[in-house]
Amino acid sequence: MPLHTKILIGLVAGVVAGMAANLAQLEWFTTALVALEPVGTAFIRLITMIVIPLIVASIILGAASLGDLTKLGRIGGKTIVYYILTTAVAVTIGLLLSDLIRPGSRIDAATRDSLATQFSAEASARVKMAEERPSVKDVLLDIIPRNPVEAAADFDLLPLIFFSVVFGAAISVLQGEQKTTVLNFFGGINEACMTVIHWIMRIAPYAVFALIAAVIARFGLDLLRSLLVYAAVVLLGLATHMFVTLAFMVRFAAGLSPPEFFRRIAAVQLFGFSTSSSNATLPVTMETAEQKLGISKSISSFVLPLGATINMDGTALYQAVAVMFIAQIYGIPLDMGGQLMVVLTATLASIGTAGVPSAGIIMLIIVLQSVGLGAEVESGIALILGVDRILDMSRTVVNVTGDLTCAAFIARTEGELHFPPKVDN
Ligand code: ASP
Repeated sequence: MPLHTKILIGLVAGVVAGMAANLAQLEWFTTALVALEPVGTAFIRLITMIVIPLIVASIILGAASLGDLTKLGRIGGKTIVYYILTTAVAVTIGLLLSDLIRPGSRIDAATRDSLATQFSAEASARVKMAEERPSVKDVLLDIIPRNPVEAAADFDLLPLIFFSVVFGAAISVLQGEQKTTVLNFFGGINEACMTVIHWIMRIAPYAVFALIAAVIARFGLDLLRSLLVYAAVVLLGLATHMFVTLAFMVRFAAGLSPPEFFRRIAAVQLFGFSTSSSNATLPVTMETAEQKLGISKSISSFVLPLGATINMDGTALYQAVAVMFIAQIYGIPLDMGGQLMVVLTATLASIGTAGVPSAGIIMLIIVLQSVGLGAEVESGIALILGVDRILDMSRTVVNVTGDLTCAAFIARTEGELHFPPKVDN
């Protein structure tokens, strides 16, 4: 049975078990499911532990095999333009749907106030986290690491990517035995990382069960009822972006069949959904790109870690809907100018969002402030926090899918896409 089918079975079983515990209000069953959660957390740690060695080794190998630096610059330029454009389209979809369906006008004042009170403490903790963010100047300067080891220790991917690209480019100009020795060394590390990933993936179905069952068992279904329209607009937007925008890019920019593409990347999507983290999914994304989509290492090793760090279509779309929802709830009109501001700030905020669970809601605070909803930030965040986990899982699926569509597109334009006609999963 293919791995993604096994993971899907784990996921469905997790949903069923979680729902059963939740709906039947079986206290002991909920406790048992929540007690299993560490299995899932251990799995996320195992796969996350491989991210740093994997991206360092594979970016160095990728950059070294590119051969010439102008090619690297060209790929970098195309990647960033693709990421920004598709993210802006995602935000626009979120805005259009929110204008059309107006989820914020469908919630009464009493529900609004009770949600705002229920989650107020958690919301102020998030607002405090957002306040600690560095300035734009520092964010840009921080791309250059003072010490790559420190960047790796802090899981700061952007400076680590920067260092690895420069280092790989330098290796490409070495000569003879020196070059082969260093490349063999990083090639060995890369292979060892892949082996560890294969080992870890064997427990993926069980871990996914543990993660999902605990989330669903704990989930406040009554909350979902009051925020149903809001959640539905986010999900509809995410589905539209994935099956229209990204499928269009797969067909016309990457030249692949969208159903076949989605079939081959199913494990990555299920993984993104279960872990809510683009970073934790990265090893699986990279392996899938190379083995199932036939994208060359020099493209995938650069485009995908960058994507997991800066490309968040799903997050940007969600931020757009959330801003509109909060503005509508508090009766604050956002005109054309305001909405254009949302396109700009949500695109930028999603770039700054880390690929870890719940990061999107913290950057949302910045978007809210930039469109003049500063006074509503705390109560607004409190309103939507209750359903955030489920939406986080869903937007992460779109985030990782966007990274893979870009990698396929760039590989095609560079003549480095060798889509295997058949793959065993
Ligand atoms: N969890 C998302 C990701 O890792 C980021 C977010 O919170 O929106 O892609």
